[in-house]
Amino acid sequence: MNEHAFWPPPPRTIMTPGPVEADPRVLRAMSYPILGQFDPAFTAMMNELMGMLRRLFRTSNRQAYPVDGTSRAGLEAVLAGVIEPGDRVLVPICGRFGHLLHEIAERYGAEVTVIEREWGTAFDPEEIIRAIRRHRPKVVALVHGETSTGRLQPLDGIGAACREYDALLVVDAVATIGGVPVNTDDWQLDAVVGGTQKCLSVPSGMAPLTYNARVERLLAGRRRIERGLRSAGEGTSARPYIRSNYLDLCQLQDYWGPERLNHHTEMTAMLYGLYEGVRIVLEEGLEARFRRHRMHERALTAGLAAMGLRLFGDPSCKLPVVTCVNIPEGIDGESVRSMLLDAFGIEIAGSFGPLKGRIWRIGTMGYSCNMRNVLLTLGALEAALLRHGMRVPAGQAVQAAMDVYAEEQAVQTG
Ligand SMILES: *Cc1c(COP(=O)(O)O)cnc(C)c1O
Repeated sequence: MNEHAFWPPPPRTIMTPGPVEADPRVLRAMSYPILGQFDPAFTAMMNELMGMLRRLFRTSNRQAYPVDGTSRAGLEAVLAGVIEPGDRVLVPICGRFGHLLHEIAERYGAEVTVIEREWGTAFDPEEIIRAIRRHRPKVVALVHGETSTGRLQPLDGIGAACREYDALLVVDAVATIGGVPVNTDDWQLDAVVGGTQKCLSVPSGMAPLTYNARVERLLAGRRRIERGLRSAGEGTSARPYIRSNYLDLCQLQDYWGPERLNHHTEMTAMLYGLYEGVRIVLEEGLEARFRRHRMHERALTAGLAAMGLRLFGDPSCKLPVVTCVNIPEGIDGESVRSMLLDAFGIEIAGSFGPLKGRIWRIGTMGYSCNMRNVLLTLGALEAALLRHGMRVPAGQAVQAAMDVYAEEQAVQTG
C-alpha cells in the first residue's frame, strides 16, 4: 500500500459548517516571507488589522484583535478574563456550543445557571431577559449561530437588559462573523468572539475578538488586585485565581496596544492569512456578503425541497449559513456522506448528541458559498440518494436551484 496515498491532500468541495475551503488569496498570503514581531512593517500591519476587525465586528471598541489558537481559545480567553471563582454566569443552551460555554465557565470557577431549550429552536430574547432578572448573573454567555442545530439566536434587547442589571454579555459569533450581521455596538454586546475557518474562509488557528470599555475596566481591576497581592508578598495564591497565562487578555492587549509588550511569538503566517481574509470580506462589503449568503441558501433549500427532502428545525430562526436536513427514513446517513466524499470529493457534515444520525448539515460559508458548489452538491446528493434506493424526482433539484439563480440575476440586471 502506498503510505502517502493522501499526500498531497486531495481536492475537495467542503460544504460543512467549518472548516470550509480557504480562499486561494488567503493561502497565497500565508506563504509570504516572515517578518520579525517588532518590525515596523509588521506592527503597522497589526494596527491595520485591528481597524479592519472593528469594521468586521461593527464596533468602535479599542480592543479588536485575534487570539492565537482556534475559536475555542478566543472563547476561553474572554471567559477566563471576566470570570472569577464564585461569579454567577448565565448560559442559555440549545445546542452543542452552548454546552461548550457552560463547560469553560465552570472550569474557571463560575457558578453557572443554565436555561435549556430543545435542539432545533432558539430562545425568545424575552426568556433570556427574564432569566437575567431572576438570577442576576455577572456574565451572560451565549451562542449567536448554533452550528450544531443550524439556528440563529436573536439578540435584540438582551444587551440592554445586561446593562440594566449590570451583567456582561459575551457572545460566540464564531459561525456568523462575515456571513450574517453581527452588530456589536448596536446590540450592546460586551465581548464577541469570531472564527476564521467558517465565513471568513481562513484556515483555523486564530480567534478574532473584540471587547468594550466595560470589559477593559474589569480586566484592569483584576490586574491591580493581582499586582497588589504579589507586591504584598502574598502571591496570587492568596485568592483562588485560576489564571491562564497563554490566554491572558491583559497581556495580549499590551502587545496589540502601543506598549508592544511581547507576550508570545506572534503567528506570522496565520496573521497574514487573517489579514487577507478580512480584507477580502471588506472588499466585497458586509451587506453584499450577507446578501450572497442568503442567495445561496435560497438556491440550496429550493433544490433540497425539489428533491423531496425536509429541513430540520424551527424555520423562523434558521441560520442562513448552515442548512440542516432530516435524513430520510430508511437511509443510512453516514453511507450517503461517504459516497459524496469518495465518489464526488464533496464533504457535508453529520451532527452531534441527540441529532447524531438524524440530520445532515450543509454549510454555505464564505469562499465555499458559491453557485458551483451548491449545484454540484445538489447533483451529487441526488445521485447518492438514488444509489441508496430512494425515489428522487431526478433532475429537479439542480433545476430548482438554477431557477433561483436565474431569478436573482434578473433582479440584479433589472
Ligand atoms: C466551530 C465553532 C466553535 C469552535 O471552534 P474551534 O475553531 O473548533 O475552536 C465554537 N462555536 C461555534 C458556534 C462554532 O460553530
